[in-house]
Amino acid sequence: MPGHRCATPHTPGTAAKAVPGFPNSLFWRNPDMRNPHHQQHTNTQPGRTHRTNRHSTAGAPGGPRIAVVGGSLTGPVVALLLTQAGFAYVTLYEAMPASTTLGGGLISLEHSSLGILDHLGIGQDEYVHIPSETIWQTPVHRRMLGEPTRRAYPGRFTTWTQLNQALTGRLPDGMAQTGARVTGLTAHGQCALLHFADGRTEPADLVVFADGRASTGRSLLDPDRQLHYAGYVGHRGAVACNPTGMVDFWRLEPGPGVQFNIAPIPGGVDWTFYLNATPAEYAEWFGVAPHRRLFAQHRHVSDIARAHVDGNAVWHLPEPYASAVHCTTTRTAFPVMDIDPPTRMVWPIGDGFAVLLGDALAPVRAHTARGANNGLEQADGLVTALCQHHRHGADLGTALTGWQRRHLPAAVSAARLGPVIGARLGLGTTAAALPAARGAVEREPALAGAR
Ligand SMILES: Cc1cc2nc3c(=O)[nH]c(=O)nc-3n(C[C@H](O)[C@H](O)[C@H](O)COP(=O)(O)OP(=O)(O)OC[C@H]3O[C@@H](n4cnc5c(N)ncnc54)[C@H](O)[C@@H]3O)c2cc1C
Repeated sequence: MPGHRCATPHTPGTAAKAVPGFPNSLFWRNPDMRNPHHQQHTNTQPGRTHRTNRHSTAGAPGGPRIAVVGGSLTGPVVALLLTQAGFAYVTLYEAMPASTTLGGGLISLEHSSLGILDHLGIGQDEYVHIPSETIWQTPVHRRMLGEPTRRAYPGRFTTWTQLNQALTGRLPDGMAQTGARVTGLTAHGQCALLHFADGRTEPADLVVFADGRASTGRSLLDPDRQLHYAGYVGHRGAVACNPTGMVDFWRLEPGPGVQFNIAPIPGGVDWTFYLNATPAEYAEWFGVAPHRRLFAQHRHVSDIARAHVDGNAVWHLPEPYASAVHCTTTRTAFPVMDIDPPTRMVWPIGDGFAVLLGDALAPVRAHTARGANNGLEQADGLVTALCQHHRHGADLGTALTGWQRRHLPAAVSAARLGPVIGARLGLGTTAAALPAARGAVEREPALAGAR
């Protein structure tokens, strides 16, 4: 590790629950985002350069100490890009133990993201199963497919499992610490201090929170931005057959309040079935309220939930798709959640900084197909900004401000787009008055696809 710029007291059991307050207004007045404790030295005129009394990590051999929190997609991309750029003091902390077997479904990656993976030397053959660039979108009437519309997709399809393996398998030995759950963040002298569930602490000059939808970083840095249940659920499954021999992504739209997506993955197909559900229904089907269970694993999926999904599949979907759902043994589900669009991505912590990116910054609805794309693009932009600091002496706060300015608009736009798409599909709270999938088995078949 680079020279110890601050003491690293190990204070078991003192995990902080809050970052010392940095009011938003103060942050915006200080374009260099310095610690307000040093405000008397701040030039508050935007656009001016200034000298600061902050210790500088610019040009330090090996660069600043960077802690990356989260080892799914965004975190490993940040860590690999930093390594490739010559940053020597990067540690990745992942809450899940190494022994945990995780899997995830289909994700579409745009050319921007594919280019970042190219840059990391990850061949598409490692994470792209079928090189399709097509999404078929089709209405469904009385369980019959209507005329499909072809939508060209400027990218490729992968799965979370393939991409996570391609990324984490490339992390240098010793960089990732698994079973390391971050619980707090405090300023300590000239650096930020991360606190862990096991009571230890670790210093860092920059903390990169890529810890996903239920981000601890967001709850510490931006606690007013809470997740809100959108009123519907994505029921998911993967089945070890390809009922129609499909080679593209298919989106079936039987009518308001129902959407079914299905696509080939290695060994079969992956499907997501969106259906409206009240918070009480979610709790009945998956054990607890939506905001308390953001991902329902197979063991959380009750028989009632299973019967509900099977019933809706039989009611709404053409036969091969309904059967695919019915014979899916391992099922998961997630409540669709919204969050207020972010207003910032960077916070000063002591003389260091903390940033939010990926789902930690703005978990967006899956229909936008922007979650992973945003995370990868933000990761790439962050490392570009950090290189200007490390190689060319750019002020770190200024570099991070520039990064924020370039990437915040895309995150805001995706957070706003999700509810618009949901409303168009009759999914969610705003669509509660529409005839939804709920109770569909009691209705006449004609109603389901007639609208
Ligand atoms: C059905 C569905 C379809 C989707 N389709 C697309 C798509 O087509 N295109 C697209 O771009 N996106 C898509 N997404 C979104 C995409 O999956 C997510 O945006 C992406 O996985 C986010 O990656 P992430 O690394 O930022 O966060 P996550 O994948 O949520 O990972 C966060 C990581 O942080 C770890 N962690 C959490 N808390 C802590 C802590 N306190 N300390 C240490 N570690 C912690 C977690 O264990 C996890 O490994 C889809 C999502 C769903 C559900």
